Amino acid sequence: MTSSTAINPEAPVLVTGASGYIGSWIVRSLLEAGRTVHGTVRNPQKASGLEHLHKLSDDHPGRLTLFKADLLDPGSFDEAMAGCELVMHTASPFLLTGFKDAQEALVRPALEGTRNVLDSVNRTPSVKRVVLTSSVVAIYGDNCESRNVPGGVFTGEHWNTTSSVEHQPYPYSKTVAEQEAWRYQKAQDRWDMVTIHPGLVLGPALTSASDSASLSTMKQFTDGTLLAGAPDLTMGVVDVRDVADAHLRAGFTPEAHGRYIANADSLTLLQIGKILRRRYGQLYPFPRMTAPKVVIKAVAPVVGLTRKFVDLNVGYPLAFDNSRSRDELGLTYRPLEQTITEHFQQMIDDGLVRRMPV
Ligand code: NAP
Repeated sequence: MTSSTAINPEAPVLVTGASGYIGSWIVRSLLEAGRTVHGTVRNPQKASGLEHLHKLSDDHPGRLTLFKADLLDPGSFDEAMAGCELVMHTASPFLLTGFKDAQEALVRPALEGTRNVLDSVNRTPSVKRVVLTSSVVAIYGDNCESRNVPGGVFTGEHWNTTSSVEHQPYPYSKTVAEQEAWRYQKAQDRWDMVTIHPGLVLGPALTSASDSASLSTMKQFTDGTLLAGAPDLTMGVVDVRDVADAHLRAGFTPEAHGRYIANADSLTLLQIGKILRRRYGQLYPFPRMTAPKVVIKAVAPVVGLTRKFVDLNVGYPLAFDNSRSRDELGLTYRPLEQTITEHFQQMIDDGLVRRMPV
């Protein structure tokens, strides 16, 4: 069933995870579009890490209110959601390494948090639409699966059926959270749901306080990690500003429905390195070549990868069909050259990048 849901432009919009890399761009885009925003953060009183939201609040007086809410705290989204017609649920940990217990670090907050937010939605009569930040990793598990889909191109019809807590825990967390969200949505008929599926999100951040793996992925181009050779790993990539735009269009296009892939194109680590080299020359430790898979497999545990991940992902192509986002939401994508260079330039400006010794 395709519904048509008109959102009152005067009603506040709830953004969960308002402080995050993507969440804060959504908040900014909503404010610039003239909307009133209720943003949730875990600790609105914290002394640092919310400066970007305080600045947005100063720039748009009276239109951004921050609320305290934790994904693992039942009922904590009720207050922020009161009176909202549109809920954008972005809060969820995006970590690829650096955790001990994947269930606790990723799956529990993603899944229980989705239930918690949607329980609040069910209790809040004003809500008409939920826009959920899912991911392309809820669509596929490992790159090798592109052999199993027509033309090697993933669409919103596909689901990740292969990830688990042990293998690809972040993709698993996004998949089970989105599946649970659709179960909630189909169990009632007051609110509809639109899901947004970005590839790896890059581009300038409004905050450097985020733990997002988007920011740690770009650090590999600054610290020499890839100098000896980059794994032949292809990723979907998209600009953070376009992802924010996708959320707004999904929220305010009455006929929007289902799963929208929001991905500009696919790139390998070496291609990202080439884009940076074209702009910055030899000043920084960008990768010059692809490392053989056998070498990547040998060193995998040292760099935080499993050998199974290398086996199933390195050396395989990856492609996504983003046509629904362009045709139905009217989304246009920035060239990734701009996304990547503006992201790296911000890292230089923030003093996060060391030059190569000359
Ligand atoms: P991020 O900067 O780390 O943002 C994550 C947000 O989740 C933060 O605002 C954080 O809030 C919130 N959060 C985490 N644990 C929480 C908890 N227990 N209770 C309440 N809030 C919690 O990451 P991001 O890259 O912007 O990711 C945002 C969303 O986009 C996630 O759903 C992620 O899966 C999805 N996504 C990201 C990418 C990407 O490449 N970045 C791609 C596809 C999908 P606090 O600041 O209050 O801690």
